[in-house]
Amino acid sequence: MISNAHDELADRGPVYIVGAGPSGLTAAYRIRAQGIPAVILEKRDRTGGMIHTHREQGYLMEEGATILPSAYEPVVKLAHEIGSGDDLIPAGSIIGFARDNVIHNLRSDHLFLDVLKTPLVSLKSKALMARFGIDATRASKLLNYEDLSRASAFDTMTPREYCSLHLGLSGEVYDYVINSTVRGVLGVRGDAISNLELFFMLYNILGSKLYAFREGYSTYVDRLSQGMDIRLNTTVQEVREGVDGVTVTWTGADGVTHTESGAGAVITARGDTIPDLVPGHFDAASEAFLRGLRYTKCVVMNTGVTRKPKGIVASVINIPEPVDPDLMGFTCEHNKAPGRAPEGHGLLDILTMTEFAERIIDEDDDTIRTEILRRMEKLIPGVTDTVDYTRIARWNEVIVYSRPGLYKELGQFQARQAATTSRIQLAGVFRSSSNMCTATVSGERAAAELLAQLRAPLRRFVAV
Ligand SMILES: Cc1cc2nc3c(=O)[nH]c(=O)nc-3n(C[C@H](O)[C@H](O)[C@H](O)COP(=O)(O)OP(=O)(O)OC[C@H]3O[C@@H](n4cnc5c(N)ncnc54)[C@H](O)[C@@H]3O)c2cc1C
Repeated sequence: MISNAHDELADRGPVYIVGAGPSGLTAAYRIRAQGIPAVILEKRDRTGGMIHTHREQGYLMEEGATILPSAYEPVVKLAHEIGSGDDLIPAGSIIGFARDNVIHNLRSDHLFLDVLKTPLVSLKSKALMARFGIDATRASKLLNYEDLSRASAFDTMTPREYCSLHLGLSGEVYDYVINSTVRGVLGVRGDAISNLELFFMLYNILGSKLYAFREGYSTYVDRLSQGMDIRLNTTVQEVREGVDGVTVTWTGADGVTHTESGAGAVITARGDTIPDLVPGHFDAASEAFLRGLRYTKCVVMNTGVTRKPKGIVASVINIPEPVDPDLMGFTCEHNKAPGRAPEGHGLLDILTMTEFAERIIDEDDDTIRTEILRRMEKLIPGVTDTVDYTRIARWNEVIVYSRPGLYKELGQFQARQAATTSRIQLAGVFRSSSNMCTATVSGERAAAELLAQLRAPLRRFVAV
């Protein structure tokens, strides 16, 4: 009986997955593991979404995601499951905090200890920060990748307001620790987002050791994609739910528009585009929530240099606002993992803050290069003269641009969705702080919920 049910399930057509980023690939992997075919429709000409490794002139560069903390347990587990475990190598885990021409090094996996010892801020400031540690610890059990709305009781203010209220707004704590960390991880200012993001990053991103994929992040995506039915250059226009499944309309690489039926769908497109992709599917409040989601932008410049910058041992360097308001930080990829640059050379991946990205994203490469290098000179004097390669990536969506209260609204959205059954499930980073692990967990959750929906009526049918 069970195998009949299984066959019937597979007979209802594939599950369509919109998007071949980590959310969509994970969902497809879990669905296929249950014997149900999955077809992935991807509008780009490649898989990976915001993960993309590029090799040129001996440099191994990440245009998008680069950090993989050991706190990303579901990603590490999945990497082992698909056979990428041996490709995971320990990465340089030192995070640099710039201040007054000095880069102060803190070990990511000994963050609390090193904060106590660092001369980055005064003893008095460190004492003030004890309150921050206590509050973040209180919130820590609720800070998960699956649904950050569970911690919405803490989603009442921005990091700046939190500092002002609880840390006496010691200027240096906000400028060189709190805001510097928020900027360096998310590319937004600490007076704009929800304080939950700060607590989240402390426990679920920083504060653990870092890993890298030996030959770059894309090797993980490639392995996850193996054997999958992926249609590239294919843009989905519409997904509709019917009595016994879904119909999906897309325009393929051949320019032809197709409408096909399937058992279900998982949508991983950015949240604010979902109501137009699935017209009439959501109640008014849920539609308003999705349409209201905003995303940040970022320009990344992979920068090959003929000399490793002297004295920098950190692999990730946060740039505080007083040092430069427009750059969020840079990674020294040559300190992160071996093989990132030709012998003797260095590789810097420089990332811009979202507001600056908005200003320059449509400029030509030369203009962007000049603007970014002019700012980098403040951190590494003379760096421009050592540059032998640059590559510029423009990202029009990176993370959900949260604000205080967003995660409360997310909780209400989740409750409304939980009360309905649907063959269309949503994945993507809007359910928690945006990162690769949230994407992975959202894909697993969407797959599990869809499989449960698909099985429920079949079991009843078989029993009769
Ligand atoms: C510069 C940068 C640096 C980053 N650094 C890190 C990092 O160090 N660590 C970390 O954890 N995370 C990092 N991230 C974030 C991380 O990459 C993302 O959170 C993650 O990729 C999100 O996965 P996703 O599958 O939800 O979305 P995406 O990766 O965006 O994939 C979604 C896919 O859906 C496709 N799509 C959308 N709409 C349609 C449609 N209508 N039809 C067909 N296809 C569609 C898109 O083309 C895309 O390929 C970074 C991101 C950027 C841009």
